[in-house]
Amino acid sequence: MTNFQLSRELISASSFLRAHRAVEDSKRELYNRLLGHFPSTVAKALTLKTLNICLAKYHFHARSTIVQSRPFGLLADPSNMCQLACPGCVHSPGPKKQKLFDWPKGTLSEDRFFKMLKLYGPTAIGVHFFNYGEPLLNLNTPKYIRQAKSYLLRTSVSTSLSVRRFDPEAYVESGLDFMHLSIDGATQPVYERFRRKGNLDLVFDNLRKLVETRRKLRRCLPLLSWNFLAFEHNAHEIPQARRLARKIGVNEFRVSTPFGMNWDDPGIRPAAVRPSVQRFDPLFVLKLFLYGNAKPTSVDTEMIEGAFERPWNEDGASDAGPSPGHTCHWLYKNTVMDATGRIMPCCAAPGRDKNLVFGTLEDSGGDPFNTEFYREARSFFSTGTRVSDGSPYCTQCELDHTAAAIGGTEIRQYFRAADRVFFDRHSLSVLSGW
Ligand code: SF4
Repeated sequence: MTNFQLSRELISASSFLRAHRAVEDSKRELYNRLLGHFPSTVAKALTLKTLNICLAKYHFHARSTIVQSRPFGLLADPSNMCQLACPGCVHSPGPKKQKLFDWPKGTLSEDRFFKMLKLYGPTAIGVHFFNYGEPLLNLNTPKYIRQAKSYLLRTSVSTSLSVRRFDPEAYVESGLDFMHLSIDGATQPVYERFRRKGNLDLVFDNLRKLVETRRKLRRCLPLLSWNFLAFEHNAHEIPQARRLARKIGVNEFRVSTPFGMNWDDPGIRPAAVRPSVQRFDPLFVLKLFLYGNAKPTSVDTEMIEGAFERPWNEDGASDAGPSPGHTCHWLYKNTVMDATGRIMPCCAAPGRDKNLVFGTLEDSGGDPFNTEFYREARSFFSTGTRVSDGSPYCTQCELDHTAAAIGGTEIRQYFRAADRVFFDRHSLSVLSGW
């Protein structure tokens, strides 16, 4: 059965039991077809990841309250701490003083991260090692990246690079795919207006070491993306920063429009500058697809084979009945865990009047994607029922509900990189177009 046929069958399935049967029936066939293109364990991993996305798509269309698919995108904070204090962030002194956010200190332990990987690694396609903390503060982050790669996950970190202890070799050797660099200025006085407590000399020193290490080790990865948030106070330095980025040797330079943060610091206002991307590396796209995740240096064979042999759970999933109504994509596609193991549905920060802690990895009966808050949030969108004042923030949320961090674009990139012939145009549109 092709992905296209399977997806059609799933969408028209009248109940979860029928959808479940279609997924289980197609498992061996899809695996056998992939076996012609990949080694056995990789074929099994790709089968699981493909079918999980198809099942998630079924649940999304059925507006299921309880799902048996697993989040295909993971966000995990290796550290809840940050050495900077940027306006608008959970680490900014203003919001901290007002206790606007609920953001405890903590460092992600090996046990906790491996537990998350065991649960979701075989069926997920990617992990972002960042949300509100500085990932480089946890010295185990390269180890976590390597572990994630062994589950064939695409990995990325976002960092200020303003850290004293940095091991560029560990990051290059980890197999990390992307590093997003948050550098919003070309001179210290301008840079530190927003990146409070940041040290630009340290940033450039670390960046040069990283580029040099990547060259010395003859690696193309990680791809380095300099992200410049354009504010009124720093927009004049964009050309200078772009020149520096090219000279140092990053792969691309992005100018982005930030959210308004003048509620925290009235002097920090977004500039009227058009977002742009400039790729200095003519092979950027080729590298994106050539170094696919289906060619890892090591694979966690035991975990992937074990997951492949286990059928998807057929108990307990509920359908609200196919509904064209609005829902939030995050609730079916991604999940977020901070360094202390708290599970959140999206990248918004929990805080006063914002019930966004949906459970913990440890205390959710082994199913953090179907906690009571997850069920209540999904059910709210399909039925409009708000249980109480203690309901999850989703019931009053005005954020963008369509842009999960790991969504259609990342699905297309992932499977194209795996094999652009096997995952043809039709398959990619079936897997990503929802
Ligand atoms: S409804 Fe809002 S708060 Fe809830 S998961 Fe979606 S974006 Fe996040």
